[in-house]
Amino acid sequence: MPTKSEHPNHPKLTNSKKDNKKHPPPPVLITDRDVGVQYVREDDERRAFLGEGGFAKVYSYTQLPFNPNHKPNSASTSASSSKSKVKTEHTEVELESLDETTKNHVLRSNTAQAVKVVPHEMLGSSKKRTKLYCEIKIQSMMDHPHIVTLHNTFQDDQNIYLCLEECAGGNMMTLLRKRTHFTEPEARVYMTQLISAVMYMHEARVMHRDLKLGNVFVMDKGSKGLCCKVGDFGLAALLDKDSDRRKTMCGTPNYIAPEILVQKGGHSYEVDIWSLGVMLYTMLIGKTPFQDKSVDGIYANIKVVKYIWPADCKVSLEARELVKSILSADPKLRPTLNEMLHHPWFTSGPIPSHVSSSALLTAPEYH
Ligand code: ADP
Repeated sequence: MPTKSEHPNHPKLTNSKKDNKKHPPPPVLITDRDVGVQYVREDDERRAFLGEGGFAKVYSYTQLPFNPNHKPNSASTSASSSKSKVKTEHTEVELESLDETTKNHVLRSNTAQAVKVVPHEMLGSSKKRTKLYCEIKIQSMMDHPHIVTLHNTFQDDQNIYLCLEECAGGNMMTLLRKRTHFTEPEARVYMTQLISAVMYMHEARVMHRDLKLGNVFVMDKGSKGLCCKVGDFGLAALLDKDSDRRKTMCGTPNYIAPEILVQKGGHSYEVDIWSLGVMLYTMLIGKTPFQDKSVDGIYANIKVVKYIWPADCKVSLEARELVKSILSADPKLRPTLNEMLHHPWFTSGPIPSHVSSSALLTAPEYH
């Protein structure tokens, strides 16, 4: 999610990370009382912490096995109770009996989920609440290997919890900063995965509208390598019909499409295609194409599609050509997702079967 300073017109942006800081960490144990499912995190809040956005802090929790004795809304556990208050839960007792090392291993096992914790207090107006429910509705419709799965949502008196598939590799912008830039074969793998995710969304009449590397999460699948997944559907819109157009000014400045800035006739699916072009450039160069000191400067660059390839960069002509076609000011001139996949950058260059986990630290070599 962009921050307030990034985009003053955005309704989601009236809260900043600073506002979020004052909220205490969520309980160690949280309970979905309707279905009797519990989630537990490490006692040490910092070790469970995955990141934070404008509205939410995200923590790694482990879903405990389903309690067959659960009665809906039973008073056996309070949604905000701490671990010490839930002695009746057999699963918790089992976990408590483990030594510290094993317990932490269990907590970090593959049942881990990234729980996005949104304090009710941060939602203030009903408009923001409606937007969050819209995010939940859209993300729970999604079922695709390259889209973060929303497993469950529930709330207690303090917070709303979104239980998401955990992507332990963090977000792709953080990875890119560590790596400076990605190699072209690597970028082809990530772009193929992202394009397939966006195809799926558009077929479901969903526009994401905030595609950026900070909203792409990385999962390390061991021998199957790294896999990326699109998350944060906070600005997504579900269209009634394909011909619908939206007029709300939204997005993150560096990735925003010109038709959103110009505001003539609304925008549609092509805004996501534009953002994919910005993402491809950013993967290959290590910074976004329209960067400027001020947001107005970024917008001015976007409106006239002003960007350069640094003189010393070794990016192929095919990659430059593909980025150029995607970054067309006129949305109708942009390639479709399918056309992108048939561009020579994809068809004439190597696409490795996977990106090795070592790419979390150093550039992988392909021979
Ligand atoms: P917001 O909607 O408030 O901006 P985000 O969805 O951007 O919140 O999440 C904030 C941060 O939390 C992300 O930048 C990332 O570091 C971490 N995060 C979010 N979702 C996941 C996930 N599924 N797996 C791992 N980390 C995540």
